[in-house]
Amino acid sequence: MTPLAEALACRIARDGPIPIDAYMSAALLDPDHGYYTTHDPFGGAGDFITAPEISQMFGELIGLWLYATWQQAGAPPAPLLTELGPGRGTLMADALRAIGQASGGHQPFRLHLVEASRCLAAHQRQALDGHDVTWHTTLDDLPADGPFYAVANEFLDALPVRQFVATPRGWRERLLDWQGGRLVPVPAATTDASDPLVARLPGSVPTGRIAELGPAREACAGALARRIATSGGAALLIDFSAPGLPLADTLQAVRGHRYADRFAEPGGCDLAAAVDFGALAGAVEAAGARAVGPVAQGAFLRALGIDARAAILQRNAGPAQARAIAAARNRLVAADGMGEDFRVLAIVPAEAPAPEGLAPPEP
Ligand code: SAH
Repeated sequence: MTPLAEALACRIARDGPIPIDAYMSAALLDPDHGYYTTHDPFGGAGDFITAPEISQMFGELIGLWLYATWQQAGAPPAPLLTELGPGRGTLMADALRAIGQASGGHQPFRLHLVEASRCLAAHQRQALDGHDVTWHTTLDDLPADGPFYAVANEFLDALPVRQFVATPRGWRERLLDWQGGRLVPVPAATTDASDPLVARLPGSVPTGRIAELGPAREACAGALARRIATSGGAALLIDFSAPGLPLADTLQAVRGHRYADRFAEPGGCDLAAAVDFGALAGAVEAAGARAVGPVAQGAFLRALGIDARAAILQRNAGPAQARAIAAARNRLVAADGMGEDFRVLAIVPAEAPAPEGLAPPEP
């Protein structure tokens, strides 16, 4: 049993069963035992690998996208660039190198990162050595002035979801109880009819069906959108999606590159849930900005020129390295993997054109 499981058992004995969002928050960000608070999860020896850790091309293309989008808006002065949940800082380091090359050595952006884990912020500080960066633990603390550019890769999937289960008496929130020495999902005894989330759930579904909603994710997308609607700018939200949401149970645990029991080892493995991009787009539009997409990650990276970038890198590489570059490119765009499972949604001001890589195909 992990130390966090013991702490949750005490909490449940004292206060009763806890909702899934409280479990997810504790498992990822508990100050003493949370997964991100105490681990560096990335890379071959870690628990999972993300797109920027697969290849420098990912962060470079995103950097060029940010720079081009800012230029197309007329290069407004003092733009802010934020990344939400920068992990090891790899995406931002690659993006800044590409921006520096495109601009002839000039860095136009003020860099502000949002990171809740002190352990990962330390990695980011190392990766971004030489850049002037300010860290914040929440989005609310970012400076309020200036056009606003943002990127979030595999950030929203870590923000907590709430789950509901269909019972013969209607929807009930799914809670975790402590029974027989482990965490067990149980339906709540009653439903708070005034909960606006419950009102969004469909009426007639078979008993046992699970619904998953991400109000914290929608609030985050809404906050970015309000900022962009007021100050201008653009944001890219990149994450894994799943069919059927919100009528799906996508909460997953990963450890050592394998799926693990979601409720067995809180704090010892990564927890994430697929992102409902339709719900995010709704939150963006409600906040007065324009949502463009989502498009598949593979199509987005190809439109941004990943093939040309791979060819340039391969030209300067030995045979083994050239093969590794091709493999990384394939992994990022594969139709039977990340290229299709991951989606990209852009937020731009209401009147702005669709940005590069997300424009609908010519009729
Ligand atoms: N973007 C990186 C890391 C993804 S993992 C990459 O693609 O490799 C998720 C990141 O979000 C981690 O850095 C984690 O510490 C951070 N994070 C998770 N929940 C957060 C929250 N509520 N507030 C701020 N950062 C958070």
